Amino acid sequence: MVTILIQNGTVVSATGRVRADVLIDGEIIVAVLAPGSALLGNDLAASVDRVIDATGKYVIPGGVDAHTHMQLPFGGTAASDTFETGTRAAAWGGTTTIVDFAVQSYGQRVFDGLAAWHEKAAGNCAIDYGFHQIIGDLNEDSLQAMDGLLDEGISSFKLFMAYPGVFYSDDAQILRAMQKSAETGLMTMMHAENGPAIDVLVTQLLAEGKTDPYYHGVARAWQLEEEATHRAIMLANLTGAPLYVVHVSAKQAVQQIAAARDHGQNVFGETCPQYLYLSLEENLGVPGFEGAKWVCSTPLRSRAEGHQDHLWQSLRTNDIQMVSTDHCPFCMKGQKELGLGDFSKIPNGIGSVEHRLDLLYQGVVNGRISLERWVEITATTPARMFGLYGKKGVIQPGADGDIVIYDPNGHTSIGLPVNGNGKTHHMNMDHSAWEGYEIDGHVDTVLSRGKVIIDDNSYLGSTGDGRFVKRGLSQYLI
Ligand SMILES: [Zn+2]
Ligand SMILES: [Zn+2]
Repeated sequence: MVTILIQNGTVVSATGRVRADVLIDGEIIVAVLAPGSALLGNDLAASVDRVIDATGKYVIPGGVDAHTHMQLPFGGTAASDTFETGTRAAAWGGTTTIVDFAVQSYGQRVFDGLAAWHEKAAGNCAIDYGFHQIIGDLNEDSLQAMDGLLDEGISSFKLFMAYPGVFYSDDAQILRAMQKSAETGLMTMMHAENGPAIDVLVTQLLAEGKTDPYYHGVARAWQLEEEATHRAIMLANLTGAPLYVVHVSAKQAVQQIAAARDHGQNVFGETCPQYLYLSLEENLGVPGFEGAKWVCSTPLRSRAEGHQDHLWQSLRTNDIQMVSTDHCPFCMKGQKELGLGDFSKIPNGIGSVEHRLDLLYQGVVNGRISLERWVEITATTPARMFGLYGKKGVIQPGADGDIVIYDPNGHTSIGLPVNGNGKTHHMNMDHSAWEGYEIDGHVDTVLSRGKVIIDDNSYLGSTGDGRFVKRGLSQYLI
């Protein structure tokens, strides 16, 4: 067993910061110690295999990204990051656990979909991973299968109020699934957009010759996000299901979630970096086809309407609980291009799995959130929300040695795939939705279960380091 002592850093948790040393034995954190502690007369630094000096740096729990789509088939193509490339990129950015979405496609049995996802991921991941289960065909057989999910370490399932003919569930199906959620404790995750209404607008816009990426945002109007969010909340209220609304982008949807929470309902919201920083006007709406880089659902919203400011505020007030990426990368060439001349054929998704910690740290620098809140929304709450807390999301004895040493005096330039000028990313994409973003901080060192996998701007891990993590029920319910 290798022993590591991380010395002289500031350990930051969701509740505070303290100067402390962290001792790791093998894969596990065994002690958080007063700086320079000579426990029982031992010179710890002289006794361990390796000392990492974290002077002037933050020592934080490894990031938990609870919303990724590696290798997801979508619109005749598949997300360009494999589990291998996507989890390695995540590690570069200080994320040490992902929860990806196993897919039950229409006509497929739930456990066949799950088995296929295990096959894609097993032996290929750089970091630990778990799965949510997408229920894409909610029938009697699926409802029965849901009883067995928790035994498989899967404590949450996702339904779609959008994408008729693909993943869509109607209100009757949602009600049945939520009854099951209330009965089993499984978290219901909801893609809350009114899909049938969106499809009408898409058809009308295309008929008027409005084919540019911008109209993706017009068709997916905020009213249709607010309405679906409200409907999901009321069905959850009726059934008693815990509800987690994914990728919230409209301030009106946030208000629905906040109102439900004020009434004591177990309703939670997630947003993503793209909704905090990017907009309909500046990104999706750039002339020509370039806006395709930023086609994702829910869509980027108008800055003039104030969604971005409201989302930052909701992160401060805990109206929104956490930030995931919804990482779903597609290259422009051969993938996004499928939608040239028809925005509805552009594969939906943005790649961000590598940049979540950095982009949210910039929120700390900009005075949007506190340092502690940064750790909470990127690691601690995701771990609690999805039944990983104790092992993940916290630096404490008994937790996995998943640790990031973050340099607040470092710098990160986000750019195109490796191009020699230091502005880069490691995701398998031919562009970046974040090109030109400059971050006043840097992920220096990343440990995954006690193994140093990123250090000194090098990747030191191996394919297959990551293991499947069985999750328990949510530890965040009120
Ligand atoms: Zn979704
Ligand atoms: Zn998603």
